[in-house]
Amino acid sequence: MDAEKIKKAVTLLLEGVGENPDREGLKETPERIARMYEEIFSGIGQTAEVPLMKTFSSDAKEMVVEKDIVFYSMCEHHLLPFYGKAHVAYIPNGRVVGLSKLARCVEVYAKRPQIQEQLTEQIAEALMEYLKPLGAMVVLEAEHMCMTMRGIKKPGSKTVTMAVKGAFEENAVLQDQFFKMVRM
Ligand code: ZN
Repeated sequence: MDAEKIKKAVTLLLEGVGENPDREGLKETPERIARMYEEIFSGIGQTAEVPLMKTFSSDAKEMVVEKDIVFYSMCEHHLLPFYGKAHVAYIPNGRVVGLSKLARCVEVYAKRPQIQEQLTEQIAEALMEYLKPLGAMVVLEAEHMCMTMRGIKKPGSKTVTMAVKGAFEENAVLQDQFFKMVRM
């Protein structure tokens, strides 16, 4: 990441909106934002391959669900946050992965300019590619600041997206089981 470019851009942005970037409260802002972006965009260019490759052999045949994984991402259309919960499931195919690694997988794809639909798909695809389960299902529910603090202003409204792969595809029984496990 190029911190100098970010600092220049933020200074220009502040000038552009009619602010004085040299006034006391804003002086350190370009520097602060550059440091913050290091963290909130740390998923750029990364994949979940490393976390998802740490697996253990297992006879488990039933779906594993990790629910209520809190995530924060940035809408790529407005560079405003969207945030909420991810629910991730997979059906093991001889191997299971450490549960914290599922949260890590969500994080890798969340920490970049994103849209929720694509984030959902990328998490499901990463599970299929690196963990190689019989199937994977991902549901994301999130509030988008670009919806709630501007434009149509609907605080509390949630966008829900889902992706199904492998055994979950066109299998209403498995999908229902997932939703029951997430809601209990
Ligand atoms: Zn947006």
